[in-house]
Amino acid sequence: MRLYNSLTKKTEEFKPLKAGKVGLYTCGPTVYDQAHIGNLRSYVFADILLRALLVNDYKTKWVMNITDVEDKTIEKSQSSSLGQDPQKALKEYTRKYEAIFWKDLKNLNVNLPDKRPRATETIKEMQKLIVRILKRGYAYPKDGAIYFDVKKYSENHPYGQLVNIDPKELKAGTRSNADEYEKEDVQDFVLWKNKKEGEPFWNFKIKGRNFPGRPGWHIECSAMAHKYLPVPFDIHTGGVDLKFPHHENEIAQSVIGYQAAGLASFFVHNDHVLIDGQRMGKRFKNFYTLADLEKKGFAAMDLRYFFLIAHYRSKLNFTWEALEAARNGLRRLNDLVRALSKVKPNRKSENFKIHRQQFLDIVNQDLDTPQALAFMWKTIGNKSITPAEKKALLFEFDKVFGFELARVKPLKIPVEIVQLAEQREEARRSQNWQEADKIRRQIEQAGYSVLDNEEGFLIRQRSKTD
Ligand SMILES: [Zn+2]
Repeated sequence: MRLYNSLTKKTEEFKPLKAGKVGLYTCGPTVYDQAHIGNLRSYVFADILLRALLVNDYKTKWVMNITDVEDKTIEKSQSSSLGQDPQKALKEYTRKYEAIFWKDLKNLNVNLPDKRPRATETIKEMQKLIVRILKRGYAYPKDGAIYFDVKKYSENHPYGQLVNIDPKELKAGTRSNADEYEKEDVQDFVLWKNKKEGEPFWNFKIKGRNFPGRPGWHIECSAMAHKYLPVPFDIHTGGVDLKFPHHENEIAQSVIGYQAAGLASFFVHNDHVLIDGQRMGKRFKNFYTLADLEKKGFAAMDLRYFFLIAHYRSKLNFTWEALEAARNGLRRLNDLVRALSKVKPNRKSENFKIHRQQFLDIVNQDLDTPQALAFMWKTIGNKSITPAEKKALLFEFDKVFGFELARVKPLKIPVEIVQLAEQREEARRSQNWQEADKIRRQIEQAGYSVLDNEEGFLIRQRSKTD
């Protein structure tokens, strides 16, 4: 299996550190609001990676964290429930959005990660890690907070493996207390923030001195990953916007604190979702949530299909038309599965084995889902493959795609009608209009209608008004 590794900026053969086993970490959501579909793309992508590893017979351990304490969750929880105990308010506020998040993922048929640590429940591990970094001389206290010494680190470690940073630009002793900042502002980052009035805090005793406060965002992920995976582990995923400062800082802290060669062998990043050509994001105030899509009559699975149309490393432009095309593609696929409901799948034939392998070869080439979808449609239209083989193949492909074809309810459209529609589509593609019209009439006489669209066609049972 080949994957693009952001550390080396190359597509490389993936080899796990321990034969047959893969440790996978995904930066989870900051639960201060509903996830938008740009966020959700990251989790569907990670799920596709997980599924691809599974069909390649790896045993996986997937860890995804919940960031329930950082600047935004605190700010929002405070404005929502004034007068309450800050820790209680934070818990109450974030649990609500955490529940929505897991529901969204379930609806998108994303597998549940094996471990789902919450930051607020991993504070001890974070403090331990900070103490280790302090002991090694790569952190220092300042005004009640504790900072990571980037200058010192970059003198004997590569800082800027994921994004290019010029070490000469680094100024010693300048600090950022914010969790998010730009590459141009590279400086010492905060490991532990000092307590602010009215905010939730935890005591932190170091050599008899107390540092009441809370963790910085970056240290959270290092500690939560380490709690469940040996460091370094195999694959770390996230959106491209997390490369800097988040992932860069996660690596630096882990290398020093855990005295490891690195945090993960592979960093794999997915690109953004655009909306009408502009980057989607809460701070740009142009975003949709899954609930917004559902209000317009779309299902989560339509969005899943839409995500897979583009390669994970390409930007994906969201339009309602494109989402509709994805829905039509999925409906057509479901129709086909319904039509095959009485067919017994054949997994034994040579034809099945060859096509399964061809599909895997595409998936294993850096998770090329657009090519894999194209291959699926080509397989469906291939007359030399029997319906029994097609059914077996579709379910095999679905182990990676995750469209839940097994849950498609059997319905009405007989396989002969679907085959006629496929033949008509062939005729249309080769511009044999006469033949296409002839087949259309045949379909209609049998009580069905066929609708053409960008994705190909849809078959419906004709109603009395047709
Ligand atoms: Zn993270």
